Amino acid sequence: TTHLVWFRGDLRITDNRALHAACEDPQARVIALFIATPEQWKQHEMAPRQAMFIYQHLQALQHALAERGIGLHYHQCDDFADSVDWLKDFCEAEKVDALFYNKQYEINERQRDAALEKAVSESVICHAFDDSLLLPPGSVTTGNNEMYKVYTPFRRAFLSRLTESDSRSLPAPPARENAGKVVMHRLMPFDYPLADIGEDFAIGEDAARNQLRSFCREQVQDYLEQRDLPAVDGTSSLSPYLAIGVLSPRQCLNRLRAECPDVLEKTEGGAFGWLNELVWREFYRHLIVAWPKLCKHQPFVEWTDNVRWRHAPEELQAWKDGNTGYPIVDAAMRQLNTTGWMHNRLRMIVASFLVKDLLINWREGERYFMSQLLDGDLAANNGGWQWGASTGTDAAPYFRIFNPTTQGERFDKTGRFIKAWVPELVDVPERDIHQPHRWAEKHHRVLNYPLPVVDHARARKDTLAAFEAAKNRS
Ligand code: FAD
Repeated sequence: TTHLVWFRGDLRITDNRALHAACEDPQARVIALFIATPEQWKQHEMAPRQAMFIYQHLQALQHALAERGIGLHYHQCDDFADSVDWLKDFCEAEKVDALFYNKQYEINERQRDAALEKAVSESVICHAFDDSLLLPPGSVTTGNNEMYKVYTPFRRAFLSRLTESDSRSLPAPPARENAGKVVMHRLMPFDYPLADIGEDFAIGEDAARNQLRSFCREQVQDYLEQRDLPAVDGTSSLSPYLAIGVLSPRQCLNRLRAECPDVLEKTEGGAFGWLNELVWREFYRHLIVAWPKLCKHQPFVEWTDNVRWRHAPEELQAWKDGNTGYPIVDAAMRQLNTTGWMHNRLRMIVASFLVKDLLINWREGERYFMSQLLDGDLAANNGGWQWGASTGTDAAPYFRIFNPTTQGERFDKTGRFIKAWVPELVDVPERDIHQPHRWAEKHHRVLNYPLPVVDHARARKDTLAAFEAAKNRS
């Protein structure tokens, strides 16, 4: 018998449920496959950096599989529809008896998998696994069997289910005894823009696991004090690995429990704080399955679609480029543009700024983030944007508007982060860093740094009025 493992958002051999299941029968011939779909990726706004990250991990995956006697086939076609047609023929040509894959929960991905299962139903048995979450969507519900709309009760129910479920990590499969010599199919670079990913994120499962281990061992206890300070390396920086499945959430949970055995009993402290973020990740993924409209960029709260967003291309561009004249916003956007990663506190600040200070449609921000992020993930990104824009479920209320200056003062007090990314401001003293033009005026200095694109106090009033008018129109 031939078993085919179709890799998608799970580019790892350790703790991979589909791969593990495919390898259980020692007699089976096991082959693996990855299909690149550049046109689909364009539609999904995938960042060229993320494409590169995937490409490099695919190479690592090919080697790791080959060492175990499993050849990785590679194909490129336009989009998901084409991939279904091609895969059907591939299964026939390779005489595949059973197909193994880990589920993806976005709407296009789910439709693709349904189409594929139908197309091959007569000859291939499909085994689909819930692998990228600690608990599958639909398994954490209210008394009425509905998905929670509010996070805190979701978390409570989630944690109680988690203690009853089997979250053990699976080992990488051993080398296959009957495998002949594995052919190393050439992995052509994707026909998609590929961008350099810099040095911050090493390639490979081992690198990701080492980072996880040292974070849980040395840093997690300080997580609550440090997680909001962008100048400090206080979060795990594991999101790019989780986004493309180089690391699984079970590996995160199990490593955390190994270092902090009472994390599930003690609902406080750094370890629990970090676990809480992993549960937010679950919450947003469960939400997109319960409300697929979220995958189509529709707001959860419908009346928010009545907000009359401003058409302000120049201000949008200033936001993208990090030239708004608000130092914390600009430093954050420049971090994103240079590295493909942005600190969570800053994501909240810049999202609030785009939507509540510039009154620009949150979808513009969602799209721009996707096009830049190494950790771009539809559910987390949509969840984050709808939270910041007050259009989501359990989001910030629309009248809660961050003041970008005070946010900077609170979370980058001395301006260390700002100065690292906005060199125009290096000479500005610490106490003036968040309002540099005031300082420049007082001391007759010329700053090569833009004036604020909006006046926050006025923008705040306009935004409140725009949201209130939209609510009244509904
Ligand atoms: P840690 O603090 O170490 O957290 C551990 C893991 O938990 C993260 O790696 C991530 O997988 C998950 N996580 C943490 N915070 C959140 C959250 N708020 N929502 C969902 N999952 C979370 N995260 C993405 O992975 N991809 C995105 O595209 C994305 N877009 C965002 C957009 C906005 C506007 C906002 C406000 C947040 C977004 N986030 C996104 C969530 C969060 O900012 C990042 O996951 C986090 O900054 C990654 O850094 P870390 O790995 O050091 O996180």
